[in-house]
Amino acid sequence: LAEELRHAQKMEAIGTLAGGVAHDFNNILTAIVGFGTLLQRSLKQDNPYQVYVDQILNAADRATNLVKRLLAFGRKQVINPRPTDLNEIIKSIEKLLARLISEDIDFEINLHDAPLICHVDSGQIDQILMNLVTNARDAMPDGGTLSIRTGRIVLDESYFGQVERSKPGNYATITVADTGMGMDEETKERVFDPFFTTKEVGKGTGLGLSMVYGIIKQHDGFVTVDSKHGTGTIFTICLPLVAGETSNDQQDIKVVGRGNR
Ligand code: ADP
Repeated sequence: LAEELRHAQKMEAIGTLAGGVAHDFNNILTAIVGFGTLLQRSLKQDNPYQVYVDQILNAADRATNLVKRLLAFGRKQVINPRPTDLNEIIKSIEKLLARLISEDIDFEINLHDAPLICHVDSGQIDQILMNLVTNARDAMPDGGTLSIRTGRIVLDESYFGQVERSKPGNYATITVADTGMGMDEETKERVFDPFFTTKEVGKGTGLGLSMVYGIIKQHDGFVTVDSKHGTGTIFTICLPLVAGETSNDQQDIKVVGRGNR
């Protein structure tokens, strides 16, 4: 619990700080982009300095994108949860996810064969899936298999006593597994920390998984990571199932999509 509290406080502090800095930085960027564009327009097309101005504007563009992500991170996201079938969310975003990954990655989706109704904001779940899929892709530069699976579990007191501070009950699960490079112990411990990244400068912000963590917490769920260096990684998201939607005992998992891009 202490660990979780520490994480929550850190997220809060960093969120506030990031939001404040991003806001001021945004104003500075507006000036750079504004005057840069003026300069670009006033230089003749064949002016040799034109390429420098283009570079400045490109860099400012990248900075603007980063600031947008920081602002989104600092802001308390207003979530708009409604009872939604997680399987349907995945089906509707499947094509988009497939486009994020490269041809030499096999993409498999296995959906639980009964609806998994949870109180969720589907836009936020989309965001989570995109983050996890992007990370899985980055972990498999030489190809591999990425699989998304949904299921259902009942968690009792004993489980929560040891692992997480959430309510026992019926949960829907989404697992995102890859056969990529995996993580060492230190990375595994820090993956959900804001700004923790092992990617090169410009490639990673270290915000993806802390966003995942925050969104899932807001939905009263939890997320775990299981990873082995050199073998692969499995992220498991657990979200409380809406009461009354759990009487169905079907446990089978049906394959609805396999590498269909
Ligand atoms: P970013 O992707 O910008 O680095 P994240 O918060 O999404 O930020 O991830 C933090 C770090 O966690 C990554 O830099 C990487 O080291 C590790 N990581 C996340 N997902 C995976 C994965 N599927 N396989 C291996 N390492 C991962």
